[in-house]
Amino acid sequence: MKTVVKFGGSSLASARQFKKVGDIIRSDKSRRYVIPSAPGKRNDKDEKVTDLLYQCYDAASEGKSYKKILDKIKERYQEIIDGLDLNLNLDHEFQTIEENFVAKIGRDYAASRGEYLNGMVMAAYLGYTFIDAADVIYFDENGNFLSEETDRELSEKLENIERAVIPGFYGSAPDGSIRTFSRGGSDITGSIVARAIHADLYENWTDVSGFLVSDPHVIKNPQVIETITYKELRELSYMGASVLHEDAIFPVRKEGIPIHIRNTNKPEDKGTLIVENTCRRPKYTITGIAGKKGFCSVYIEKAMMNAEVGFCRKVLEVFENQGISIEHMPSGIDTMTVFVHQTEFVEHEQSVISGIHRAVHPDFIDLESDLALIAVVGRGMRGSRGTAGRIFSALAHARVNVKMIDQGSSETNIIIGVKNADFEAAIQAIYDIFITTEL
Ligand code: ASP
Repeated sequence: MKTVVKFGGSSLASARQFKKVGDIIRSDKSRRYVIPSAPGKRNDKDEKVTDLLYQCYDAASEGKSYKKILDKIKERYQEIIDGLDLNLNLDHEFQTIEENFVAKIGRDYAASRGEYLNGMVMAAYLGYTFIDAADVIYFDENGNFLSEETDRELSEKLENIERAVIPGFYGSAPDGSIRTFSRGGSDITGSIVARAIHADLYENWTDVSGFLVSDPHVIKNPQVIETITYKELRELSYMGASVLHEDAIFPVRKEGIPIHIRNTNKPEDKGTLIVENTCRRPKYTITGIAGKKGFCSVYIEKAMMNAEVGFCRKVLEVFENQGISIEHMPSGIDTMTVFVHQTEFVEHEQSVISGIHRAVHPDFIDLESDLALIAVVGRGMRGSRGTAGRIFSALAHARVNVKMIDQGSSETNIIIGVKNADFEAAIQAIYDIFITTEL
């Protein structure tokens, strides 16, 4: 059995956290490939090493004083090295980093050093081989990740290495320069490594015990989701859940490798297992509820709209020309409504309206702002009678007016539009009817 383990910044923020990670890795021999993030926050007021690196680089490259920030970064690593009693000296590494900063080598390089140095510390601590991600993770000259080239090289390289530490978050471009993924991108590195070695499991260790059924800012102590499919997760993450980087799904999904979200501070908790498909009965009818405020709707009405070939395309082109992405598009026989992000839309609102008039000559256009969209997602909803009925009677009892309903034909998600002001009450009502009453 081969397991890839990725540890997030808070799991590696101090020597104490490193020791927990060491215990976790040593307790299971299959945990052979380790992907560390940079040290994160030790408490709410602390700073992430990645943020310090960005600050330090910006100061150094602008010719401002940067030494204080650099010292802070050095101290973070020294505290870990001393706390673990390691015989490791990073002076030479820091000297190179400083020279490169002053020479304005690039922000991606700067940010990547957090993972690079933490990888060295981790490899020394575990006695595993250190592999610089720049040698095995490839980007093109525009910073796009090269998945197939990387997979080939990485598979070959790791074939003969029994146990290794590969820092997350970065790789290199053809000219040798360092490139990073977007923030939180160590999750993606873990997934890439899991695919390359045909892992049985990709464990992603963080500081929460998995995905929650709903946002804890809205629902008090929501239940943890035990098993979720990639598809369900996409539906939910798209509305704002944020435990795992969204792009981390794709490499492992291609190979059918499950991802297990675990809590470094509570390794006894079950966590959330993310799978391609499963026969496991979901605990509740629904898997999760996610939502977002801040949408507006553009309602367009025209008699005989349904008979006019190309009507929708022409309307959508108006949005496209203004660079506005579309969230949802429910329609009636002579009406269509386009849901868009309010912040994206307001700047272009008048151009969109005049564009639609010019393109399709509607009878009437109406705008409504301050709307929220809520996604109720679950494979358990498929073929189960009365799910929609339960949702809408719960909303009626909570005195929430439903402005829009959209159910995908896969029957695994129902999107509901409500006023921003009803958002919390709506989520609470749906949570109660499916989770609290099914507990
Ligand atoms: N250290 C990087 C960040 O703070 C990447 C990561 O932690 O995954 O975004």
